[in-house]
Amino acid sequence: MPHPRLLPPGPAASLLAVLACCFLLPAPAHAALFGDNPVDLPIKEFVASPNHNNRPAGVTVDTVVIHTTEGSLGGTLSWLQNPVSQVSAHFVIAQNGDLYQMVNSRKRAWHATYYNARSIGVEMVGYAGRADTWNDANLATLASVLAWSSVEFGIELERPLGNAYGDANNTFRGTGLVGHAQIQPWNKSDPGVFFPWDRVEADARAVVAAAVPEPGTAAALLITLGCLCRGRRAA
Ligand SMILES: [Zn+2]
Repeated sequence: MPHPRLLPPGPAASLLAVLACCFLLPAPAHAALFGDNPVDLPIKEFVASPNHNNRPAGVTVDTVVIHTTEGSLGGTLSWLQNPVSQVSAHFVIAQNGDLYQMVNSRKRAWHATYYNARSIGVEMVGYAGRADTWNDANLATLASVLAWSSVEFGIELERPLGNAYGDANNTFRGTGLVGHAQIQPWNKSDPGVFFPWDRVEADARAVVAAAVPEPGTAAALLITLGCLCRGRRAA
């Protein structure tokens, strides 16, 4: 299903956007200007988890919650498929970078209590307390997942500061890229002190930039014309 994008459209889309602005196309036609997500999601296998349900109506998906599994890939896939566990995540990323999807991103996965409705959950196979959890392969796949999620839902590729202890009722309210420990600091520490937040943010932004080119000069001119056109209408 097509979605309005928060990111710069390509030249063709810019031209159409100008035309839409000048001729006041209705909103559905405007939204249909944008195609499928241009960021590649390199899924190795969809391993379905029964542990999910519908997101509440009207909820905006504005956050990706990053976890570490504290266990092996095999154990994680098995536990998250087990209805007894009552836990799941949208994505699991192995140490070698292999990407497994377990829940459709439109559905609510069960990984971060009061953040489930608004978030995408990503489980990184590894340990919050070990620096060697992080390597080029699993971080590259994570960057792709974050970039895809950002374009798909308009999620900011930036980590908010603080945690639930700093917000009213011990309820965290930050959006963007969030660690599980920020949501539940009383019993969670993942993804841990070794997780390279700055690198992850930069890498994810680079993936978006490569997949969604900036408008060219011609497109910029058309956007300017579009603004002039809008201004004349307003007057
Ligand atoms: Zn976690």
